[in-house]
Amino acid sequence: MVTIMDKLQTKEKQSDLRMTRQRRLILEELDTPGMHPTADTVYQRVRRRIPNISLGTVYRNLEILSQAGMVKKLHIGSGQKRYDRTLHRHYHVRCVKCGFISDVPAEPFGDLEEAARGSSEFDILGHDLEFEGLCENCKGDGIQQHQD
Ligand SMILES: [Zn+2]
Ligand SMILES: [Zn+2]
Repeated sequence: MVTIMDKLQTKEKQSDLRMTRQRRLILEELDTPGMHPTADTVYQRVRRRIPNISLGTVYRNLEILSQAGMVKKLHIGSGQKRYDRTLHRHYHVRCVKCGFISDVPAEPFGDLEEAARGSSEFDILGHDLEFEGLCENCKGDGIQQHQD
């Protein structure tokens, strides 16, 4: 079985990124599947293990990790930036009521880029798509429970 640490070490070699303890813990927090935390949330979690870490340090490390291609930065809705450990292209759905963000388990539409290529003068490099909806908690008159 490949552990998270093995994966990190492989990635570390690939990206030639120095894996400090801080960075390692930040990545561990992000490795929870389906999580799209804000820097704030990552900070709150990492702080449990490194009590003297600052929000600025977490920001900086998230920035470095996203530049190294180990974390994806998301700009969803009008809220804060979020971070995603699922690196392959995938779509998101955002709850319009509580802001919870989830992955959409659908295959990306390759045709969409083809269509854009045919009709635009741009060199189309990729695309992103965000669905809006109501999450399970908000569908009824549920209370807001999601934190991330
Ligand atoms: Zn919701
Ligand atoms: Zn995602």
